[in-house]
Amino acid sequence: MYAFTFERPTSLADASRLAAAGGKLLAGGQTLLASMKLRLANPEQLVDITAVRELAGIRREGQSLVIGAMTRHADVAVHPEVRSAIPALAHLAANIGDRQVRALGTIGGSVANNDPAACYPSAVLALKATVNTPTRKIAADDFFPAMFTTALNEGELITSIAFPIPKRAAYIKFKQQASRFALVGVFVAQFDDGVRVAVTGGGNGVFRHQGLEQALTRSFTPEAAAGVKVSTDNLSGDLHASAEYRANLIGVLTQRAVAKALG
Ligand SMILES: Cc1cc2nc3c(=O)[nH]c(=O)nc-3n(C[C@H](O)[C@H](O)[C@H](O)COP(=O)(O)OP(=O)(O)OC[C@H]3O[C@@H](n4cnc5c(N)ncnc54)[C@H](O)[C@@H]3O)c2cc1C
Repeated sequence: MYAFTFERPTSLADASRLAAAGGKLLAGGQTLLASMKLRLANPEQLVDITAVRELAGIRREGQSLVIGAMTRHADVAVHPEVRSAIPALAHLAANIGDRQVRALGTIGGSVANNDPAACYPSAVLALKATVNTPTRKIAADDFFPAMFTTALNEGELITSIAFPIPKRAAYIKFKQQASRFALVGVFVAQFDDGVRVAVTGGGNGVFRHQGLEQALTRSFTPEAAAGVKVSTDNLSGDLHASAEYRANLIGVLTQRAVAKALG
């Protein structure tokens, strides 16, 4: 690694001040530290936000679950409120990476990083969540403009994410066997006003699939999803899978997710 200085603020105000002054936020370190070891990232200062109390915790607010940015995947996976209100979210967290990644990785770090194969961005988008920062609330539909890019300004930190509780939801991913990231993952959520389908792992960042959403809003059945032809447009091919393979997976995983959501 290149040399850096290290700060460990204990308040949100201090964390925001340090980030605004150019400090790089360090959450679970599962992505950032590896990038630094590879010398792909060389922050002059790390701002470890582990001790900031305002970023911790899971609570229910009306018809939403609000999850603090520093909540670890392992904690989301077992939290009773998450398991009863949005079991699909607990299932998603329980299947991220391996035990070590789940013990350290955080929801805020995952969403801020917006890896094109990460699981959480699909939940944020399908569940029409709101990403909260100290100064504003950002709708999921506006948050993920492109892979590894978000609507956050330089130095702006995620404080929590609010997930509306759906009628039904499910997440199914086809794992990339080495990393367990999503080769393709599909999050389906049914609300009173319609169905949202978000896809991760397509290669170019998380996105909603309008054809599947329209078909499932008309009829929330695996058969309705099976009737939708998924185009290869905007999907990428690489050594793990061709665009055609990914398109087929999106259709198949959506059918399975709907079947799972129906119980
Ligand atoms: C082997 C391995 C397997 C994995 N498998 C999966 C998987 O199956 N599915 C999946 O979804 N993910 C997977 N991940 C990713 C992992 O789960 C973490 O979510 C991810 O590394 C980022 O979270 P973090 O807390 O470690 O963030 P960090 O690495 O600490 O930070 C990542 C980035 O986010 C920024 N950041 C962190 N917190 C905030 C905040 N509150 N506000 C603003 N910016 C912030 C940092 O500055 C940095 O740029 C895997 C990672 C590894 C190493």
